[in-house]
Amino acid sequence: MRLNAEHLAEVCMLVNEETGHGRTTLFTCEFCASTYSEIGLAEDCEQHCGTLGFTSAEIRRKAIHVPKVEIMPLL
Ligand SMILES: [Zn+2]
Repeated sequence: MRLNAEHLAEVCMLVNEETGHGRTTLFTCEFCASTYSEIGLAEDCEQHCGTLGFTSAEIRRKAIHVPKVEIMPLL
């Protein structure tokens, strides 16, 4: 599923940039709070979480940090 540019910009706004120890910029999914080293991965996660209400296991494998608390479906 591809997002149009307008929606993609909206998703980008949802991604927080967190500076860990002054070396690595991390990106956090607003929905499940998983942390990624690449903004593209965080966007993929948010897209998946926002659309389906849960994180793709494949995307989550790439996460640096995954919280133990599972998100609830949005509906
Ligand atoms: Zn997520």
